Amino acid sequence: MHILFVEDELKIASFVQAGLKEQGFTVDYCDNGDEGYLRAIEQEYDAIVLDIMLPGKDGLAILKSLRQRKKNTPVILLTARNELDDRLAGLNLGADDYIAKPFFVEELVARLHAVVRRSSGDRQNLLSVGGLQLDRISREVKCNGEIVELTSREFNLLEYLMRSPGRVFTRTQILEHVWGYDFNPNTNIVDVCIQRIRKKVEIVGGWGLIESVRGVGYRFKN
Ligand code: CA
Repeated sequence: MHILFVEDELKIASFVQAGLKEQGFTVDYCDNGDEGYLRAIEQEYDAIVLDIMLPGKDGLAILKSLRQRKKNTPVILLTARNELDDRLAGLNLGADDYIAKPFFVEELVARLHAVVRRSSGDRQNLLSVGGLQLDRISREVKCNGEIVELTSREFNLLEYLMRSPGRVFTRTQILEHVWGYDFNPNTNIVDVCIQRIRKKVEIVGGWGLIESVRGVGYRFKN
């Protein structure tokens, strides 16, 4: 899952980021509302975690603008314990959930899974293409019935391709989605990761599932 996280308190920001990454999320982080809003409209995120009190555009204003633009990315608001009015305002403006500080990262993770599941009735939790099965909740991959052990990065990349079999993704798209925007586009990190996934899948008989499209990128076999 690709998350946008907007929070100006660096202490909270760093522990939440670390926790989310540990759980396999790709996190784009902004420490102010103006940049956060720009990213939220430019990129397709699976969910946005939005602090309310922010320098620049505040969280409620960001939420309001997104919904006015019909941008329906699920939003979880971070609120201080005494900001009841803000929570209500946020829910009225179309927030999907809120969480009061201080909180445990596990709670945020559970809520993220819940809002993404709710927002994507069409998105199945179990993807099954060409003998390969990927469970988005348990994060387990099986090929011909055998478990394929993937790192969280490998899993995210595979999930991204498997969501749209037959569609070609460029290296840049993959890089942005799986690693986040702050990675150097000149690296061959995507190719290396694809090769590792192919090897692991081939060992259990999954041949030719990820196709290279010369000069463009990769696609999952349809
Ligand atoms: Ca704040």
